[in-house]
Amino acid sequence: MSRTRYVIGNWKMNGTRVGAQALARAVAAAVAASGRASPRVVLCPPATLLAMVAAETGEGRVALGGQDCHARPSGAFTGDVSAEMLAEAGCRYVIVGHSERRTLHSEDDATVRAKAEAAHRAGLVAVVCVGESLAEREAGRTSEVLARQVDLSVPGGSGAGDTLVAYEPVWAIGTGRVATPAQVAEAHAGIRARLGARIAGGAGISLLYGGSVKPDNAAELQALADVDGALVGGASLDAAQFLAIVAASPG
Ligand code: PEP
Repeated sequence: MSRTRYVIGNWKMNGTRVGAQALARAVAAAVAASGRASPRVVLCPPATLLAMVAAETGEGRVALGGQDCHARPSGAFTGDVSAEMLAEAGCRYVIVGHSERRTLHSEDDATVRAKAEAAHRAGLVAVVCVGESLAEREAGRTSEVLARQVDLSVPGGSGAGDTLVAYEPVWAIGTGRVATPAQVAEAHAGIRARLGARIAGGAGISLLYGGSVKPDNAAELQALADVDGALVGGASLDAAQFLAIVAASPG
């Protein structure tokens, strides 16, 4: 069975109402006009903009995602958002384990896994991010780090219907320094093998690459054998750039 292709835009902590509305509207209109059913396009705006983006995308071909969720459904967790809240706001997806959460919020693999499990309980698709730091790559530890993150961050019962894995080398995120096709191919093949060995049906989970994906590298990266799409940060804030990346998906 062929794997589902995705292009996911992670707006991070960017956007206020007027600009974000224009961006969501432009993406929704262009994706609808393209008539293509693949790739699936997902926008992950800040929580404050979820309702507005949901209104713009409606029941159309652009789906909505959160950027993070808490592992618990409710409680005294000031500033956090639960997976249930995201689902109620219209989300179908949620990113967990982004390197900015792992680094800036000290989230470890067990926390990421708990968040992915919470996403599954709420009926959301978890987009689990993994990736090595520059120091880990330079020390020749990339495959070991990725194997550990996949083993400990992706819930054992995961499958293609409720989980995506995004390979995002930390040194390529927001730096303009993109991993080479050979580096991406090697990492994705390793992640795919690890998922397949550990989880029944794990080899069918879609794998996305993230890290300075731009219009000029999107076609080459998305054409690689084990790459099923892109997780896009900076370029997702510009409708023309994001839509060029969507158009570069082999579909
Ligand atoms: C990201 O934050 O997930 C990301 C890939 O960012 P950028 O595209 O800006 O490198």
